[in-house]
Amino acid sequence: MLDPNPSSRTTPSDGSGPAPGGLLPPGVDRAATPPQRVAVLWCRRSADAATEALAALGLIPLLLDPTETTQFLDAMGEPSVLVVDCDALDDAAMEVLAQTRSAHPRLSVCALAGAEASRDGLLRALRLGVSEVVDPDDAEQLLATLTKVVQAPPAVRVLAVGAHPDDVEIGCGGTLLRHRDAGHAVTVLTLTLGAQGGPAVDRRREAVGAATRMGAELLLADLTDTRLDEEVGLTRLVEDVVATVRPSVVYVHSTADQHQDHRAVHDAVVVATRRVPEVYCYQSPSSRVGFSPTRFVRVDDTLDEKVDLLGVYRSQSARHYLEPDLVTATARYWARQLPHIRHAEPFEVHRASGDGPDLL
Ligand SMILES: [Zn+2]
Repeated sequence: MLDPNPSSRTTPSDGSGPAPGGLLPPGVDRAATPPQRVAVLWCRRSADAATEALAALGLIPLLLDPTETTQFLDAMGEPSVLVVDCDALDDAAMEVLAQTRSAHPRLSVCALAGAEASRDGLLRALRLGVSEVVDPDDAEQLLATLTKVVQAPPAVRVLAVGAHPDDVEIGCGGTLLRHRDAGHAVTVLTLTLGAQGGPAVDRRREAVGAATRMGAELLLADLTDTRLDEEVGLTRLVEDVVATVRPSVVYVHSTADQHQDHRAVHDAVVVATRRVPEVYCYQSPSSRVGFSPTRFVRVDDTLDEKVDLLGVYRSQSARHYLEPDLVTATARYWARQLPHIRHAEPFEVHRASGDGPDLL
């Protein structure tokens, strides 16, 4: 049921304000959280002052040997900052630092050089273009410098809403992966556990696995599968989630869809996101031929990962629309709209206000 008086409620959704992680409405469970922001330290001397400053910035300090760093970055992705003690910059560390800067050109590197730091180590650090050099014994300067160089929390927050586990990944998985790669914060809201399509416990586990792979926050509600069109308070629930997540971009089902749950979610979301600058509608396997996209997002670099992501939904493996060749062929088909790309995801534009950030 739609909120009878939606204009009476406020949904501050300009993409500013506190990051996701806030209070959720009753019945919505934070089933997966995005990865913690970490800082990597190479230190020979005591790292207490640096770890204290990093913790004050909300980062998890991780003390690594330089030779372990490449393995860490491959497994965990880019940290928010790399803090290197100049005296730890031997030849092996210099090689790793050069490789790291080449592979992660946006990564901030802060060098610690106390009064007794070797001139050679300091020169080596400067030659590799560290962002800042700071005295580790000056706690105030250390905190101020790290505050300046640590990557800011994501400025763009994206909310993708689906009726059932796998809807969002099928409709806009490649696009969400591009948002992730651009450093945007991605939240998935799924409104049922899809119990009509398989055991809820399996579907929940799969949804958590897919969100974790995407580095996304997953919010799960357990509303009645196939009866969302009869669900009282659906709009209110989505409004409350929007007020917490404060997205600047939203993805949702199209109304040109044969599934009553998908249409109900579309109707609720377009009301609940009336102040969100950008709202786009994705295609589902049950979309009608009337689905009329006018925005096409290139997913050449994320399509393989999307296919892998859909493979997480093993309980749905008999569904033809999850077959890798159909997923790939669908993306290939939509790329006909843009001859310079190979694969695309299509979207109807519900709102593109022009006030939103420059995204993908
Ligand atoms: Zn669905």
